[in-house]
Amino acid sequence: MSLIIDGKAIAQQIRQEVAVECAKLKAAQGVVPGLAVVLVGHDPASQVYVRNKKKACEEAGMVSFSHELPADISMVTLLEQIDQLNHDPRVHGILVQLPLPNHLDSQRILQAIAPHKDADGFHPYNIGLLQIGTPSFRPCTPWGIMELLRYSNIDVAGRHTVVLGRSNIVGKPMASMLLAAHATVTICHSRTVDLASHVARADIVIAAVGQPAMVAGEWIKPGATVIDVGIHRTTSGSLCGDVDFSTASQRAGAITPVPGGVGPMTIAMLLKNTLFGACHCIQ
Ligand code: NDP
Repeated sequence: MSLIIDGKAIAQQIRQEVAVECAKLKAAQGVVPGLAVVLVGHDPASQVYVRNKKKACEEAGMVSFSHELPADISMVTLLEQIDQLNHDPRVHGILVQLPLPNHLDSQRILQAIAPHKDADGFHPYNIGLLQIGTPSFRPCTPWGIMELLRYSNIDVAGRHTVVLGRSNIVGKPMASMLLAAHATVTICHSRTVDLASHVARADIVIAAVGQPAMVAGEWIKPGATVIDVGIHRTTSGSLCGDVDFSTASQRAGAITPVPGGVGPMTIAMLLKNTLFGACHCIQ
């Protein structure tokens, strides 16, 4: 039976550390880190994510500014809203909850966020810094996975890591972070031939394909570490990941559950990025 990596507990520890740093910053500089959360429309899942992020912020001693905007907002108005936040000295991190309605150009919106307030770490400037090995704001999910591995004493240097998925928000930055930590990295995607054979060679598998329980337990090399990024609601109402947990956990050396694995870490790293923004603004 595998070690079940407890993302909830690790995230809680990080959130407490962030709270201590926030208190110190306030006492020493009078700065209270502020996160502005922009939600466009009424997608129920996005509303839950935004609520959780705001709650986490407040628990860490940060202030959160909520901007709930109509689904039919124009590009111009949304860009103006972001520009205001870019210039608001109380705001050290800006997050635009994705996905945005189809009529809005997500890339243009994300690029309008000032790179020094990029709480999600998606701005091309910050992605570029990550790529050349001098990270500033980092994409929260892959950064959270690196922290999960570190807290679990799973060294990635020299290990063969296989990243399933090449999205801009998970797969690609994940591969950059693993490479920077001296892993040997294979990236797979929907055109990869014989995915199972790649997974079978992995010491560490990161599954971010967005396909429920697609990664079968028998693909996993015995003793490998399995990190499951996926989140899906099943027909019975429960949550599952991209990995078939029941079979994979029989072979893996360590594995993250869904829920309670990667998800809580994403929020913890969002707080770290916001704190980073607040510390940076006074240097
Ligand atoms: P995307 O849909 O943007 O990307 C999915 C990637 O998986 C693509 O690169 C795609 O390949 C690849 N893929 C899809 N199907 C297959 C397949 N059958 N075989 C191999 N590769 C495949 O998803 P995200 O990266 O945004 O998210 C991935 C998952 O992680 C989702 O379930 C999402 O909900 C979850 N997630 C969880 C977070 C958390 O905090 N826990 C945060 C962010 C995401 P191609 O490029 O060729 O299309």
